[in-house]
Amino acid sequence: MAGMLAVGATLTRLFARDRGGRPSPFALLVANPLSAFGLALLTVIVVLVIATPFLPVPDPDITDPANRLLRPGTDGHLLGTDHLGRDLLSRMLWGTRVSILVGLSATLIAATIGSLIGLVAGYAGGRTDSLLMRGIDLVMAFPYILLALAIVAVLGPGLLNALYAIAVVNIPFFARNIRGITLGLSRREFVDAARLSGASHAEILFLEVLPNVLPTIVVTMSTTVGWMILETAGLSFLGLGAQPPQADLGSMLGEGRKLLFTAPHVSVVPGLMIFALVMCINLVGDGVRDVLDPRLKSGALAAPGAATRVARETVPPAPSTDAVLSVEGLRTEFHVGSRVYKAVGGVDLDLAPGECLGLVGESGSGKSVTALSLLRLVPTPPGVIAGGRVTIEGADQLAATPEALRRLRGGRVAYVFQDPLTTLHPLFTVGDQIVEAIRAHQPISRAEAEAQALTLLEKVRIPSAKARFSAYPHELSGGMRQRVCIAMALANDPDLIVADEPTTALDVTVQAQVLKLLRDLSRERGSAVLFITHDFGVVSELCDRVAVMYAGRIVEIGPSGDVLDAPGHPYTGKLIDCVPVLGRPERRMEAIDGLPPSVDRLPAGCAFADRCDRVQEDCRHGDIPLDPFGPGRAVRCLHPLQEVS
Ligand code: ADP
Ligand code: MG
Repeated sequence: MAGMLAVGATLTRLFARDRGGRPSPFALLVANPLSAFGLALLTVIVVLVIATPFLPVPDPDITDPANRLLRPGTDGHLLGTDHLGRDLLSRMLWGTRVSILVGLSATLIAATIGSLIGLVAGYAGGRTDSLLMRGIDLVMAFPYILLALAIVAVLGPGLLNALYAIAVVNIPFFARNIRGITLGLSRREFVDAARLSGASHAEILFLEVLPNVLPTIVVTMSTTVGWMILETAGLSFLGLGAQPPQADLGSMLGEGRKLLFTAPHVSVVPGLMIFALVMCINLVGDGVRDVLDPRLKSGALAAPGAATRVARETVPPAPSTDAVLSVEGLRTEFHVGSRVYKAVGGVDLDLAPGECLGLVGESGSGKSVTALSLLRLVPTPPGVIAGGRVTIEGADQLAATPEALRRLRGGRVAYVFQDPLTTLHPLFTVGDQIVEAIRAHQPISRAEAEAQALTLLEKVRIPSAKARFSAYPHELSGGMRQRVCIAMALANDPDLIVADEPTTALDVTVQAQVLKLLRDLSRERGSAVLFITHDFGVVSELCDRVAVMYAGRIVEIGPSGDVLDAPGHPYTGKLIDCVPVLGRPERRMEAIDGLPPSVDRLPAGCAFADRCDRVQEDCRHGDIPLDPFGPGRAVRCLHPLQEVS
């Protein structure tokens, strides 16, 4: 039952209508010209064979020795007749019907049994796994066409027995595939959660694990149907499948073999049909694989490029500053189906050498996308940089060559991301990873790089650095892992460190240490830091200046002390009110009501208007500029909380 539900869910997904602006998988399938061609041809063939009983064609088994081996196009026999005078068109249609049915049934049997074995083996593990898999190995130890022949020899020739033989030899294919995926899935957290909620093994297997492997089962099926049809035809060709007078494509080919020179059409007709059938099934199968493959689910079939696509109409002129980083009018969009998500809608920033700028905002306000856009790290598709200029080292990085970008990344500009466990490679020791980071940018020997890496590990205060040098990421605590990432970021003395919520995954005490370390080391080396966070408490301790982001735009920017003391934008005020202050229990903490607007449907005027208690009529029209607001400050608000100082 659960299995049927899951099959239903996958099929619904394949044919689902346009959801959330994303093209439906069916639309994606048809967008692929080869699959579309295969699908069209397959549809024609399937419709023809389904309609065969109602078509005005003669009975396929009626012999007519007087009219044997008629050429195609002869009266009443469009494709001619065979050596017994039977109509070839009729036999081909009925034969295709049989071949498709047998191929499909064999695939279904192999998929069901094979997937069940794979699911149970992968989920149970231990002895069950060993027993089942050794059984599968046993089947795989024989060349499979030989094994199929042996099975038919034991069962006796016949179409049904050929079907069983083909199904059996294909079971290992499914079992091994599904076991591998189940093995990985059944150790994941959502399975643990189901176990904790008291679900039975069967429930976990069929409701939690099966839906996740189902796309793989469907993909494997769609890519093997063609094979199975060929294999059945092979057995029939050898006389072990369909028995006379029943027609299937393989036996027709076998009968025509002896007449290849005198009456080639008798073998060419079924041969072409096998070719067309298997080809279009495989084309559709490949298309289905591309659409359903869990790894390609973003809806975009192309792998992301090495740099975000830039599609600017105009390029802002070069700024005349000595800033490490200068961003003007940066706009980054995500084009998903027919929707355009304006994740970053015109951001202007400057970072002086050695300065620390905090970028603050709610989750989803566009902070990470801004940071990634600087070095064109946003994946394309769906990301596109639609406008603006990013100046680093005096050059416009949005126009840089891939090689120049590569030198910059991890060299002059380093990133520290949120979750160190996902950024560190699980199979290399942390020492090796730092060495790699150093040698990617500096032409020094391994020994020298190792010495530098060790110094770095000591610098980020990893206890007993020498011993930790050859530790794997999973052997370190979260705090230590993030220290390793900071060491990697510092490895090439960058001018700019972009730290994207580097401590969100750590607990509060470790967080403070790591932040202090990052700030101290960047001060010591004179690196500027773009520090992304959603926590105003952290900003006040760490940053010289702060920029507040809302719905993809900066709404307030200025020296952190001034902004914290007297926020100008109502949103900044609310964000500051959300931060608890130790020892001041009387202070009222308020959550901000409502949600930020979706960036694919931004309202006119101020994006914060709907949640603002100072909103007025004029807030809802036009574009509200980021106006100067006292020394070094700017605010994007018509009715700020304070008068301009
Ligand atoms: P945050 O400020 O929390 O770091 P992000 O910069 O990650 O926010 O995201 C900004 C906006 O961009 C969000 O509205 C998010 O939904 C959107 N976004 C991010 N990545 C994608 C993507 N691959 N496809 C579509 N939208 C995306
Ligand atoms: Mg983020």
